[in-house]
Amino acid sequence: MPTIIRTNAQIDELDTFVLGKVLSEIQVASFKNKRVLIKPNWVNHLSPSTGATVDPKFIKSIVNGVKQLGANDVKVGEGSIIDTERAFASLDVNNIIGDSADLIDFSKEKQWIDIPINHSKIQYLRIPEIVHEFDTIVSVAKLKTHCQTRISFTVKNLFGLLSKASRQLAHKVDLENSIAGIYFYLMQRMNVVGILDGSIAMEGRNGPLKGEPVKLNVVISGDNASEVDYGGCLVIGCSPNTVEHLVKIENSSNKKYDISLIKGYEGDFPIRQFELPPVGGWRGPLNLSPLVQIIFKKRPLWLYEDRCTFCGECIQICPANCLSNINGKIIVNNEKCVECLCCSEVCSFGAMTYAVRLGWLHGALKNILKTINKLRQ
Ligand code: SF4
Ligand code: SF4
Repeated sequence: MPTIIRTNAQIDELDTFVLGKVLSEIQVASFKNKRVLIKPNWVNHLSPSTGATVDPKFIKSIVNGVKQLGANDVKVGEGSIIDTERAFASLDVNNIIGDSADLIDFSKEKQWIDIPINHSKIQYLRIPEIVHEFDTIVSVAKLKTHCQTRISFTVKNLFGLLSKASRQLAHKVDLENSIAGIYFYLMQRMNVVGILDGSIAMEGRNGPLKGEPVKLNVVISGDNASEVDYGGCLVIGCSPNTVEHLVKIENSSNKKYDISLIKGYEGDFPIRQFELPPVGGWRGPLNLSPLVQIIFKKRPLWLYEDRCTFCGECIQICPANCLSNINGKIIVNNEKCVECLCCSEVCSFGAMTYAVRLGWLHGALKNILKTINKLRQ
């Protein structure tokens, strides 16, 4: 059962807090004599104070706690879609965790396994073979919103195990079935437990990287990652029925999510109503016609030109080679774009963003009005 834990733990209290309150909500059997992989959310180089990444000191306390609970082997692994080494360096991961556990950069793995994704146009996604060596995965995610999937919690955090190409494919073709598919695949082979870190959370339409940080002082912990995410939805006032991957997981398993599952909190939900991305993400409301969905589709946009330093990072990172600097303008070739969000994620200056491109519509309306006015004269 997922448990909501209120926290204001200071750094020097973290080990005690994690062992006594967070890990105690997960069965010891998941750790004792087990090989344990801790999967934090270090998808980007952003600081934990932004609500985008988990504090490595929190992860270190989890490593220490899992060892105390009798784990045979504990490793910490992440594969950032942008640059894992840079994310590790910015977060000082090697210094903070290095002595406590081996680090795995999944993007450097050589052996991969294709896993089938049911009910999807995507047939296979790739995860590293090394993941199969573990008995338990502890998915330690930030409690944050996501512009495509509404939330990015412990189940979505497992996406960091995928190869870059698989993540790009999933984002482009079928994100929700891919998230549910990876979760089922792992659940059939190992324990997948969840710790959702909302000490500093993130709200708003621009999650998972550019939303607003919120000091929520909540951690949710439990044996079942999807139930932990259900609890997270209640905490922030996001109806779990509007999170497609949670609905798919619930429909395909025997368990039903229910508020009575939640322990540790007896007040009213939500604890805080978050500003949330719209249902249906950037595809527009699900009930709109395909044409309207195309018009209101979000795209990578070089929107805030004045902020651009022309550092070229977005051009370098783009896996589809569809960005170029033409005469001092960053141009996106939308035909080739695979909608991976990398350009917007890597831009430290906020110049490149994901947004609905309405400039052309505005221009077209202006021209129509001009023509009508001329005809009237
Ligand atoms: S990463 Fe941002 S600042 Fe750098 S060139 Fe691209 S849009 Fe401009
Ligand atoms: S333009 Fe941006 S979103 Fe599109 S493929 Fe390139 S990096 Fe990804």
